[in-house]
Amino acid sequence: MKEKTTEDYIIDPDVYICDPVPQQTPDQNMVYPFYDHLRDNRLTTTRCKDCGHITWPPKIVCTECMSDQLEWEDFPPTGKIYAFTVQVGGVPPGFQAPLVYALIDFDNDLRIISPLIDTDPDDVHVGDEVVLKVVEAPRDRVLFFFKLKK
Ligand SMILES: [Zn+2]
Repeated sequence: MKEKTTEDYIIDPDVYICDPVPQQTPDQNMVYPFYDHLRDNRLTTTRCKDCGHITWPPKIVCTECMSDQLEWEDFPPTGKIYAFTVQVGGVPPGFQAPLVYALIDFDNDLRIISPLIDTDPDDVHVGDEVVLKVVEAPRDRVLFFFKLKK
């Protein structure tokens, strides 16, 4: 049996009885451009054209003023670890323990929680910089994580 790699994350039919990966096409998801941007290795979210409010995750309506006039905006290329924790057992299928989860701050004042992949917990420190890591998922879909900036 082939050893799993970071490219094999998610959907082990022997474990999951439903598909945990978001549907990503226009007929299935109203923020589908987010996934198209990920395919181009861009992490994006939405900003309101009327009031300027930026949110995470991307929205179809502004949570501040209810406007539907939103535009896509790129995240800064790196984020900084605000805090992290390490899960040593019971990690989700497809991941390897120990698994680092980080709260990541960006210069656009947004904070994302995400697993750090391809990352040794002993190498992680508050304030470290991380970069986007896009991973292919079944049926032409993508997922995103982060990893330490080298
Ligand atoms: Zn707004």
